[in-house]
Amino acid sequence: MSSSQTRFLLLYGSQRGQAKAIAEEIAVKASDHGFAAEVSCLSEEEKYNLERERSPVVIVVSTTGDGEPPDTAINFVKKIKTKTLCSVHFAHLHYALLGLGDSNYSNFCNCGKTIDKRLGELGAQQFYASGYADDGVGLELVVEPWIEGLWDALRKFVTSAMSTSQKDTNNHVGDHNAKNEMRTIESAVTDLNLHLLSLDESSSKDESGGSCNIVAEGEVLEASLTRSVSPLSESSLNVPALPAPFLDVELLNELQQDPTLLKPPETAHQVVITSAKQLTREDAVKTTLLLEMDISETPLVYEPGDSFDLLCPNNNSEVEELLLRLGILEKKHHIVKLQVKPDTKRKVSRLPLYIPEHSSLQYIFMWCLEIRAIPKKAFLRSLVEYTTNEHEKRRLQELCSKQGFADYNHFIRNPSLSILDLLCAFPSCMPTLSVILEHLPKLQPRSYSAASSIYSNPGRVHIVFNIVEFPPCPERPALRKGVCTGWLSNLVLPILQHSGGQMMLPEIQDASNVLPKVYICSRPSSAFHLPSDTAAPIIMVGPGTGISPFIGFLQHRKKQREEHPDVSFGETWLFFGCRHKDRDFIFRDELGRFQAEGTLTHLRVSFSRDQDDSTEEVKPKYVQDNLRLNAQDVVRVLFKENGYIYICGDAKNMAKNVHEELIDIFSRELQIDKLEAMKVIADLREKKRYLQDIWS
Ligand code: FAD
Repeated sequence: MSSSQTRFLLLYGSQRGQAKAIAEEIAVKASDHGFAAEVSCLSEEEKYNLERERSPVVIVVSTTGDGEPPDTAINFVKKIKTKTLCSVHFAHLHYALLGLGDSNYSNFCNCGKTIDKRLGELGAQQFYASGYADDGVGLELVVEPWIEGLWDALRKFVTSAMSTSQKDTNNHVGDHNAKNEMRTIESAVTDLNLHLLSLDESSSKDESGGSCNIVAEGEVLEASLTRSVSPLSESSLNVPALPAPFLDVELLNELQQDPTLLKPPETAHQVVITSAKQLTREDAVKTTLLLEMDISETPLVYEPGDSFDLLCPNNNSEVEELLLRLGILEKKHHIVKLQVKPDTKRKVSRLPLYIPEHSSLQYIFMWCLEIRAIPKKAFLRSLVEYTTNEHEKRRLQELCSKQGFADYNHFIRNPSLSILDLLCAFPSCMPTLSVILEHLPKLQPRSYSAASSIYSNPGRVHIVFNIVEFPPCPERPALRKGVCTGWLSNLVLPILQHSGGQMMLPEIQDASNVLPKVYICSRPSSAFHLPSDTAAPIIMVGPGTGISPFIGFLQHRKKQREEHPDVSFGETWLFFGCRHKDRDFIFRDELGRFQAEGTLTHLRVSFSRDQDDSTEEVKPKYVQDNLRLNAQDVVRVLFKENGYIYICGDAKNMAKNVHEELIDIFSRELQIDKLEAMKVIADLREKKRYLQDIWS
């Protein structure tokens, strides 16, 4: 830290690296603004001491699961929640907080909000209004203006703190100044939000054709990924600062390495896919597959409700296409040597831990990098430096600029473009390998809920998934499959055979050499499990593949009932939904059997596309419609009988709709207003009787 720089403490709590990356970005930018950030993870308790901290503190923290803190923030949250702490415990502390979350989940930014609230209760004061960024619409919408406003807030705070300590006379005046300060900062954030709002409005106009510009008689020019129209095309631009390069990359000798062989982390276990089945009919809109994996040779165990992380590679031909476009395809077997640039200006610069030493170029692109990640604006800014065509250069500058915010969302973020898509659209852009490695994030494993019980299937776990497909769009003309589900389907679909009306893996003697193998890690759930009291009734809401954990629940219950005939078991309700009764009603036969022998007491199924317009009768279309039709039972189970409700599946629409329906049901049936009904849900949540396992 230079003596002219003012120190502040920067803490982050990250699950998948987003909060950490943003904290690092803040640290890098700090020095440009005359500040020095001392960065620590919230879990590195030996590195900071909030009880004694007198410098401003900036906290960046994400939220995971159903509103839980990321693993690295769990202890911190627990500590500040200690009931014995008094109301002035943090009276000396001045902080600013940036929470990251996803509004598709009902407990949006819960961890950030909890920390914020608790610090306030313990006397800490904000020197800058909290920002809550929403991954559902794009974190950068809040993150960028929040960081932009941070420097002014820090400067004002430091100046005011210095003058207060100099005067050290009238506390009331100081309080007044601090309040004014807070107001100024809040209004700055409001201004920024308004600014974003007006841009947003202009972007929605864009979508309805408002960005078209008449350039010549009869000729209408529309904006596209590679072309802008007025006013953006004529606007002066505020582009982000060029990220300082920090990696030196060298390609060494060739390595005879099989790129398909993963160097797995210690926590991963290789397992054989022993069985695969297509659960949907050929004419269903989505193809659903069930895979059975043999975990008997591993120490892995699970309870119904737990999930597994599956390590998957990127698509080989997409990797080859990208390497070809970067002009390094013929070097794909070369070993990549990475070093941090000795003279880098980037403050927090270290080698990416997810790229193992002595890996080949092809291996790194297949197993280590999320090559489909949507390029961030900082990445676009770097690409500008490697683009020779002036029009392309200008367009990339626009797309990463403040003024081009709506175009970035419309042409890059919404269609989920990848770096390869961008390089195809901007042919004169030829970035170096180091730029690519600096900007592409870690390839994340994909999680799948266990769709089985280990008690009914010893040594086995089942997972169920839809093959994700992204339709072509103007910016990406070819259909693309999801990274993991596309890979899994390529592994098993070619060897599935017709058997008894179903597509299944053939029975093979000594199959372990022939059958596909994958690496998995366990991902236990903290609360999404059957109640320990078997007499407690449960309601399960799981349309589509959201039914997965409930199949595990029911298999488990069936086994318990068989083994303990004297024990009392509560009612079990399942609300399932799909498009067509005959095409994608997955587990239909198994559910029928559970019903017949009494494990499943009530099954309610809705078919969203089997509606018969010729009759007056309105059939339930979605799971929430069936919840409404059974409102009295839902209320009875939850409130008279202290039952549990579990919701699993799509976070974008279903979980929100179910949540809203439950608010309606509770307010109607319990005769309370909506706010009270929301409190009732919050209370159920707190008691772990309203549980969600949702994904987008
Ligand atoms: P990806 O390639 O990762 O793409 C999926 C997402 O990326 C899309 O939803 C979209 O947001 C974005 N995206 C990428 N490219 C595009 C594009 N071109 N256009 C639009 N959007 C794009 N899934 C199940 O099916 N069954 C389960 O039991 C299950 N359990 C889960 C449990 C947990 C705890 C979690 C967190 C998730 C679970 N999921 C489950 C979701 C699963 O992990 C994967 O996200 C899903 O299978 C898709 O993975 P993928 O690699 O095939 O798709």
